[in-house]
Amino acid sequence: MVQDQIIARGIIDKRVIDAMLKIPRHIFVQEAFAAQAYNDKALPIGEKQTISQPYIVALMTEKLSLTGRERVLEIGTGSGYQTAILATLADRVYSAERIRPLALNARKCLDSLKLFNVQLRINDSEGSPIGWEEEAPFDAIIVTAGAPEVPAVLTDQLALGGRLVIPVGPDNDQQLITIVKNDDGDLQYESSVNCRFVPLIGKQGWQS
Ligand code: SAH
Repeated sequence: MVQDQIIARGIIDKRVIDAMLKIPRHIFVQEAFAAQAYNDKALPIGEKQTISQPYIVALMTEKLSLTGRERVLEIGTGSGYQTAILATLADRVYSAERIRPLALNARKCLDSLKLFNVQLRINDSEGSPIGWEEEAPFDAIIVTAGAPEVPAVLTDQLALGGRLVIPVGPDNDQQLITIVKNDDGDLQYESSVNCRFVPLIGKQGWQS
């Protein structure tokens, strides 16, 4: 998987490659899909949600430029696979998920890998805001669900010098956007690949 899908497509950050080699993907998918866990595609994880394609996990992670010292916010824990990669590469991960059974299962998987630097939060009440204001600001924010536009509530939670990676656009045609907040607070936007994520639900996302 790592050689053919990650390195061959241009991922060069050695720390990201090592993390992808280290974290087993099969424990994050349902048993029925375990044989496909290292294939080049997203897979269902229940509750109409999906675990992202391995290449997209690597690309989004690389765009965060993590060094090991960061406090990272993830929106959309899902299976917890991306969370595990982040936990391997950053100091502390705060991950929010709106579907309780997914968050509980992710916790079990993360514990089984002894990744104890992850705090999970379940945002399952109607009208829960996107993000994690109490723990802000974050050095890096990753959103693993597609948004209609970049939620201001998230750029507000980004530290100076911080980076946000988020898929933006309509259902079938999103672009991966990287936003860097300069030391003076200005935001710089860069778009990269097309992608397709399940919807980000919330006031500055889509309606459920
Ligand atoms: N990174 C995950 C992706 C899961 S799919 C993985 O690879 O397994 C995206 C997840 O975002 C879904 O589980 C969905 O329930 C969650 N989600 C959508 N809107 C959310 C919100 N406002 N806050 C937290 N989680 C959200």
